[in-house]
Amino acid sequence: MKNQSRRVFLQKISTAALAMPFVPAYGNENYSKSPDISDGPVLRVAIMGLGSYANRVARSMQSCKKAKITGIISGTPSKIKDWQSKYDIPEKNCYNYENFDEIKNNPDIDAVYIITPNALHSPYGVRVAKAGKHVISEKPMGINAKDGQAMIDACKQAGVHLLVGYRMHFEPKTLEVIRMRKAGEFGKVLFFQGQSGFIIGDPNQWRLNKALAGGGAMMDIGIYSINGARYMIGEEPIWVTAQETKNDHKKFKEGVDETIQFQLGFPGGAVASCLSTYSMNNLDRFFLNGDKGFAEMQPSTGYGPIMGRTHKGELTFPHVTHQTIQMEEMSEIILQGKQPEVPVDGEEGLKDLKIIDAIYLAVKTGKKVNI
Ligand code: NAD
Repeated sequence: MKNQSRRVFLQKISTAALAMPFVPAYGNENYSKSPDISDGPVLRVAIMGLGSYANRVARSMQSCKKAKITGIISGTPSKIKDWQSKYDIPEKNCYNYENFDEIKNNPDIDAVYIITPNALHSPYGVRVAKAGKHVISEKPMGINAKDGQAMIDACKQAGVHLLVGYRMHFEPKTLEVIRMRKAGEFGKVLFFQGQSGFIIGDPNQWRLNKALAGGGAMMDIGIYSINGARYMIGEEPIWVTAQETKNDHKKFKEGVDETIQFQLGFPGGAVASCLSTYSMNNLDRFFLNGDKGFAEMQPSTGYGPIMGRTHKGELTFPHVTHQTIQMEEMSEIILQGKQPEVPVDGEEGLKDLKIIDAIYLAVKTGKKVNI
């Protein structure tokens, strides 16, 4: 299982959730809670790729009121059987990678959540769009900007939504820091530091296969620092510099990055200094500095509880299960036209991919790359 030690580590750091009236009641860690389906519209979702993260999403969705698993897409018959019995999915809503285009004739499914290896997000997303269903893609939404754009174009053409699984965009402590920054409580922000990494295990997994992963740590975990720099600073970077370190050439083959340090320059004068790695544990930290205050989050993007403090004190919002809130909010975005505080649409995913393209180019050329 991916970065298990990191996840276990993060799960061990648990703080008691404080009861705060203004935070939604859904999203606690009690996966066995039976959902009360809301009176409002419910997003009926087919999950594609029944691996480790899909299992987490499915468990978390059991607490959703506005989203429900109604279908599955998998190449492994035994997983289909297992999920059918666990989540009560009828045979007619089960597909494989050859026949899932037929989903277009299935009125029980509104959206497909793609949780496959990275390189399959865009080609499968294009097929889902052509079948007339909304697309939810895991991050990264593609393996380069061209790949991401193809999925955006297909969804536009089909008139379906395209959303990316940026669960931190709904996380209460993260949203509080964003609120404070927007309110000017940090003053002029000039610096962000993002550290994202864990020690990757099995050398044969798809995450270390360029064809399936599209790269290495940057695609998988470094993207959290890129995305975080953007939502914490609140601007889009205009230039990138980057340096790669590779110590294990056997495990990290050509095109699979082990460690990259990168810097992003923002139009308002802020600089982000970030680290993306598959060779160090306990790297899950954001630091934002302005001339009136600061925010520090550690862990900053793990499954939680997220912990953080600002110059005003500790961030005390209770922990909520990220995937539960994400799917509740995505249901409202797709079915009720809700505008999220931080976007999770295809254009948002594409911005990260353009930066990743620029980082790889900066590593290759050793030069500053303008975006
Ligand atoms: P995983 O290896 O556990 O699962 C991947 C699934 O895809 C497996 O069920 C596998 O059978 C299936 N698959 C379909 N076609 C495949 C192929 N050609 N080769 C290999 N596997 C194939 O991986 P995961 O950890 O679940 O990651 C899946 C996606 O979810 C990745 O894009 C990853 O970035 C994303 N993810 C996101 C988060 C998050 O917090 N948002 C966390 C973990 C993973």
